[in-house]
Amino acid sequence: MPYPKKSYFIAGLISLLVLGFLTTSVVSYLVTEDSLSDRIAEEALPLTSDNIYSEIERDLLRSILISSLMAQDTFVRDWSLDGEKNPERIIRYLEQIQERYRTTTSFFISDRTYRYYHPDGIVKTLDSEAPADAWYFRVRDINDHYEINIDWDTADRDRLSIFINYRVVDYEGNFLGVTGIGLSVNSVAELIESYQSRYGRQIYFVDREGSITVRGSDIAGANRIQDRPGLEKMSMHILTSPSTSLTYTKPDGEKVYVNSRLVPEFDWYLIVEQAESASNTRILNTLFINIGVALVITALVLAIAWFSVRGYQQKLEEMATTDKLTGAANRHVFEMIFKHDTASAMRRGDSVSLITVDIDRFKEINDTYGHAGGDAVLSGFAAIVREYFRDSDTFCRWGGDEFLILMSDCDLDCATKAAERIREAVRHHPFQFGSKQIPVTLSIGIARHLPHEELTELLKRADTALYASKNRGRDQVSLA
Ligand code: GH3
Ligand code: MG
Repeated sequence: MPYPKKSYFIAGLISLLVLGFLTTSVVSYLVTEDSLSDRIAEEALPLTSDNIYSEIERDLLRSILISSLMAQDTFVRDWSLDGEKNPERIIRYLEQIQERYRTTTSFFISDRTYRYYHPDGIVKTLDSEAPADAWYFRVRDINDHYEINIDWDTADRDRLSIFINYRVVDYEGNFLGVTGIGLSVNSVAELIESYQSRYGRQIYFVDREGSITVRGSDIAGANRIQDRPGLEKMSMHILTSPSTSLTYTKPDGEKVYVNSRLVPEFDWYLIVEQAESASNTRILNTLFINIGVALVITALVLAIAWFSVRGYQQKLEEMATTDKLTGAANRHVFEMIFKHDTASAMRRGDSVSLITVDIDRFKEINDTYGHAGGDAVLSGFAAIVREYFRDSDTFCRWGGDEFLILMSDCDLDCATKAAERIREAVRHHPFQFGSKQIPVTLSIGIARHLPHEELTELLKRADTALYASKNRGRDQVSLA
């Protein structure tokens, strides 16, 4: 590599660009991911939970209203006070309620007879000892007008229903029984299902013990949150707080956001979960696109940098005044000095002479001692020249192993003496290279500058003289 600085520059540029692009891409990825996490945890999931809760509340409110109307219905109270004659009348009434309000069930339980009236008839007579009927005796003693109870339907043992159990009292406030309607838990499940498919979230209810009570169709696995992998550690926290917002990590490493809230009417927790992956692949794609764009830009910048650096370097090299190896002036400088020196010599009427020097069989030196040996000869030769010539003389490396010496205030005689001196000095100089000595001789041509003569003309004459020296057997000086 002739110019190590260029490769350092390019390497530095690559590192800087790559580092810069990578940092901005990764930082923007992290920031986006972070704000996305915040949005999921603080907005999206609570909003879903709120929406589901308010829909459930709306359904419940309507059901409570219907049940309260039933409890205050004069027909229900009068018929009960009148000794429950013609049961088909209350049965028809319950049928009407069920049809009109499209409820799953409707019922009236008389406190006098413990009969369970239902649109299908008298389903049963309650037994104060039976656990299945315990709800009734509980409602009888509550201070409130009603309670909401989730239970298996008395008329259909396979169906889990949400019951509004409303106390019926006579005009004096004496307890007559319990009436109300039931809603299928399926309607809540359908609600969950619709939210689940719309937003790609997992939604389910758990009771106080953590058992899943209602779930959407695509929630597989454990029946208790304590058994859901990754969530088990958080289950205590969920089951003891009215609402929580947290994250857990699945065994496969996927991060899941969780929002939970207590639904007091059911005494259940509504839980909404969302896995991070769904939203993450999009921003990950953005990251890859960013990096791709960064690579293309880096390549473009490098190409531009490479070409402009090369251009500048060429210019800089031209602008450099001396040859690195020998310290001799370069062509460009020599031409300027030539113009200046010949002009002022003409004004003064002085002579200017040009000596051209070429090292004999320099190729052989290179071949025998290697390029480094050749270089040692070149720089050794330059040191000798500097020793033998005046500061007012200009020493130039014209190219390869050819050198020029411009001698001001010097005619052919003076130049010949100087040339012979340097030829002799080089011939006897021990050019030390490692343990070896390299024998070196010079062929020299001399020409005196004619008034108004251009450098090319003068050089041509001096070169002709130089070739005459070569042709006559080298190691000699010839005059133009
Ligand atoms: P001649 O006596 O006819 O001049 O024979 P020569 O071998 O010297 O022939 P020529 O002048 O054509 O060869 C010059 C050689 O100098 C060829 C080139 O490889 C070599 N050379 C040019 N620049 C450098 C350099 O900076 N260092 C070294 N080591 N060799 C150089
Ligand atoms: Mg040569």
